[in-house]
This record gives sequence, C-alpha cells and structure tokens, in this order.
Amino acid sequence: MASEEDDYMKRMVDALRSGAKMLSEQCPICKSPLFEINGQLWCLKCNKRVIKVHGDEEVGEALTTYTLSQTHEILAAKIEEITLQLSRAVDVEEIRKLAETLSILLKTLEQCVKLKERLTG
Ligand SMILES: [Zn+2]
Repeated sequence: MASEEDDYMKRMVDALRSGAKMLSEQCPICKSPLFEINGQLWCLKCNKRVIKVHGDEEVGEALTTYTLSQTHEILAAKIEEITLQLSRAVDVEEIRKLAETLSILLKTLEQCVKLKERLTG
C-alpha cells in the first residue's frame, strides 16, 4: 500500500506532466507549495482546491474548502450528540435549551454547506 507521501509525489508528478505550474505560494493549511491547474489553485498535499481571496487578509486565504469540510464534520457530530441528549431529556427547560442549540447548529450547517458550494462552484 502506498504511503501518503507517495500519493503526494504521484499527484505532483501527474500534475506537472499535465502542464500544472508549481507556484511560490504556500498552502494555508500544510504550507506545501501550491499548483496552478487549469487556472485553479490546488494543494496536492491536502488534495484540495485552495481559494485565494484577492485583496483580503490571511483569514480569507485560510478559509478553504478543506476548513469548511472540517467545520461540516464537527457540526454533524455535534448535531448527533445533541439529538441523542434531546432523546433522553425529560426536563422541559433542558429540552428547550437543547432544541435551541440544535436549531443554531442546523442553521450553521446550512450556511457551511452553502459557503462550500459557493467556493467549489
Ligand atoms: Zn495543503
């Protein structure tokens, strides 16, 4: 089985062979050099597209689909946790608090999905 490093090397070789350019810019996540493939920025280490927000601060650069995927995963896990707690709750006040939290988490998840679509679309 190939290691992660081997996969990275293979992706890099394949990309360069198909005309990708290695850039001097770094991935905001792993600090590997970015590649320009068909006019898009890619980190071949993370194997994700990197979105650069022109004229914005580093915050913008850090907000990649990779970050949002993590946000998505965490939110989904929390929603699962809260749902479980809600199913066990008997106290009205506790139920209300859990339902409110769930509502916020679901709204945040929706925003996360929309933002991800906007960045990848
Ligand atoms: Zn990276």
